Amino acid sequence: MGDLSEHFSHNDFKCRCDLCKGEEFRIHLGLVGILEMIAEHFKKKILIGSAYWCEKYYESLNRNRRSFHTNGKAAHIRIDDVPLTELFKFAETVPGLNGLGFYPKENFIHIDTRPEEKKESWVKEGESYVPLTPEKRRQYGI
Ligand SMILES: [Zn+2]
Repeated sequence: MGDLSEHFSHNDFKCRCDLCKGEEFRIHLGLVGILEMIAEHFKKKILIGSAYWCEKYYESLNRNRRSFHTNGKAAHIRIDDVPLTELFKFAETVPGLNGLGFYPKENFIHIDTRPEEKKESWVKEGESYVPLTPEKRRQYGI
C-alpha cells in the first residue's frame, strides 16, 4: 500500500532533479487513479521514470514545448515484461489520457491528463518529437 493510493506513493512522483533535491512535488490525483487502472489491467507493477518536474528543472531543459510535467499531470512509465507497444495501445484507450508519447529508444511511454481539446500523440525519434501519423504507427507497430 502506497501513501497516495494502493500502489503509489509521493516518492514515485517527486521531482528527481538535483536542483530541488526532490523537495518539490505536485501530482494530479486523476493521474494517480489512471495509473492504478493501468496497474490493475496488466496486474503488474508500473515503473515511473519521472513524473513531476520542478520549475528549475524544466528551465534547465531549455525547451520551447509546454510540459504537463510541471503541473503534475504527466508521467513516464513502463512495465517489465510488457511490450512498450502493448502499454501504449492500452493507454490510448484510457479516458482522460489526452497526451501520449511513444519513446522506443528510452523505453518508456509518456502519458498526461491535458485537456481533451489539446489531445496529441507523438513518437520521440532521437531528439525530435514527431506527430504519430498512420505511417509512424505502422513503422512502430502501434
Ligand atoms: Zn527539481
